[in-house]
Amino acid sequence: MCGTDLRLLRGGLHDARYPVIPGHEWAGRVLAAPSRPELVGVAVVGDGMSACGQCHMCARDAYNLCAALDEVGFTRQGAFAEVLCIPAANLRPLPGNLSGMEGCLLEPLCVALHAMERAPDVTGRTVGIIGAGAVGLLVAQLAVAGGAKTVKLAEPVKLRRQIAAELGLVACAALHEWRADEPEIVFDATGIAGVYPQGLQVTRPGGSYVLIGYSGEDRVTIEPAIVMLRELSVYGVLSGYGQLDKALQAVVSGAVRLAPLVSSPLPLSEYRAVLGGSDPAPLRHFFTIGRAAGLG
Ligand SMILES: [Zn+2]
Ligand SMILES: [Zn+2]
Repeated sequence: MCGTDLRLLRGGLHDARYPVIPGHEWAGRVLAAPSRPELVGVAVVGDGMSACGQCHMCARDAYNLCAALDEVGFTRQGAFAEVLCIPAANLRPLPGNLSGMEGCLLEPLCVALHAMERAPDVTGRTVGIIGAGAVGLLVAQLAVAGGAKTVKLAEPVKLRRQIAAELGLVACAALHEWRADEPEIVFDATGIAGVYPQGLQVTRPGGSYVLIGYSGEDRVTIEPAIVMLRELSVYGVLSGYGQLDKALQAVVSGAVRLAPLVSSPLPLSEYRAVLGGSDPAPLRHFFTIGRAAGLG
């Protein structure tokens, strides 16, 4: 389950096609594949996106910016349905040493890989990552593997800092602790709009700020002069596209570890309860969407 799913269920997601069942981080077993019968019964992961191949963004190979992008869990039924449908060419067998739970993290790993492609080369640089959720911890591991001089995370939640430590990563509780040695490249993996102006303030002058987290329609007031006075470069990262083979390679080679990022599994029947929490709003949306999709 991804934070974006909550935004999707609250109805505030750009480019979603309602009604839809969420779920874009997944692994599964193939039930039918007329064009690739050898895959039937095989545990797989897959690239959930299909681009139109016709628009001017596709012509530039910028498939994730395709004007008519079709994506599992956003524009077509996602993995919280009991069955989902995806082009067979997008599938890859799940490596034998990976669990299905770990397989679910390959999609966010593709996002993290795309963030590394968008950012300047991290080799020999000081890298900061704000937010030690799944994406933040994946970016941090890639930055280490990419030869960054220093990689440091900022994360207020103690449990997440402990997971970072388990992965051999350094994490502090607050951004101001970076002041003494400001990172040259900062990745914002929080999805919290209010973090953006604060993060810019702790990026070293001349450095780069890479915005990965999705903050929906949330707004924040900032002084554009922060970017101007520090001569910062700001990069947006929407999603990965076509990184799946690279992601599998990063995991199989041991450069990226996924297991510590996964919490205990829950049955699909618990899905509504997990979403509900103390805020009933997303729960109501789920009922509406579920009924509209004919799932009761
Ligand atoms: Zn996600
Ligand atoms: Zn296109």
